[in-house]
Amino acid sequence: IDHAEAEQLARRLLVEIERPLRIDTILIRPSASIGVAINQIGENPIALLERADRAMVEAKRQGGNRLVMSGDVQLAREELAIESALHAALESGGLRLDFQPILGLDGRVEAVEALMRCYANGQQVDPARFIPVAEKTGLIVRLGEWSLLQGTRCAARLCRQGTPTKLAINVSRAQLLSPRFIQALHGALICADVPPALIELELTESLIMDLSETVQANLRTAREVGVGLAIDDFGTGYSCLSNLKDLPATKLKLDRAFVGVLPDDRRSFAIVKGMTRLGQELGMIVVAEGVETGTQLAALAEAGVDASQGFLHARPMTEDALLAWMKQREQK
Ligand code: C2E
Ligand code: MG
Ligand code: MG
Repeated sequence: IDHAEAEQLARRLLVEIERPLRIDTILIRPSASIGVAINQIGENPIALLERADRAMVEAKRQGGNRLVMSGDVQLAREELAIESALHAALESGGLRLDFQPILGLDGRVEAVEALMRCYANGQQVDPARFIPVAEKTGLIVRLGEWSLLQGTRCAARLCRQGTPTKLAINVSRAQLLSPRFIQALHGALICADVPPALIELELTESLIMDLSETVQANLRTAREVGVGLAIDDFGTGYSCLSNLKDLPATKLKLDRAFVGVLPDDRRSFAIVKGMTRLGQELGMIVVAEGVETGTQLAALAEAGVDASQGFLHARPMTEDALLAWMKQREQK
């Protein structure tokens, strides 16, 4: 069917789905978000599904209960510039990982998080700008695979210099939606020759928003081989309590929005304390993000968190700087 017919069909589906349902005494008003993509000549099925999926995510982002056609997911001019910078970076070595330590309250290094950096024309592009564009365009899959390879490689280097540390790597939903994800993960682990227990995947908000069957199966397999799973930026956005129930996660990272207002904001303190308790009861290590001052750290200790990450301990640094930093701590 063509563009117009597809749109018509989707609109009819929306209308049908919206009909209220009565179950006993309850009236339910369902809604749906539909993403539509029309097959382009020579396009492979995975790419087609990815475009439809992106349109669906856009429909949700616009508030749901609507239809978005794939061609309507237009990139703004600035986003187009970022997209071409990302392509250039992928091809000419403009990508880099920086690393930021996560410290246990006892001062030992609990893990190190790998953070992607992109350079275009000698300038660094802010991740808050390029990650969303990469997600929108599907480029995040290639970028994410690159991150996995580089991150596991760094974990291997840390092992070789005698400072083995858990390495946390951010993954996006588009990566986990692909059946290739487990292959990419296995590949990275084998290439780098690191024990899976030294790798942790940080699940970002875009992923938590929609836990499909494939995503859940991929996460379960990752857990089964021994890779850790962290819920990133918990407590804001789309992350919610039911995710704690459904995800086989090993770590909970509390969003820095709660940490920045400590110790004065007693309500935030109460939330941090409660969420910490909840995470720990579920068997997770609880980490507070974005700790910048000693008084914040003291409040976090009082709240009972297991570990913290932030500029107070160390800013994200290059791989060589990290290796030196770890070695120096080892010698102390
Ligand atoms: P995130 O995973 O929550 O990473 C933590 C962010 O907080 C980093 O921002 C880090 O530089 C910043 N940060 C750390 N300590 C402090 C602090 O004390 N104060 C403040 N104000 N900020 C702090 P960054 O590097 O800009 O990364 C932003 C986001 O981009 C990450 O948030 C993550 O969601 C995403 N990202 C980064 N690398 C990757 C990647 O390889 N793959 C994917 N999918 N996403 C990535
Ligand atoms: Mg993260
Ligand atoms: Mg985070």
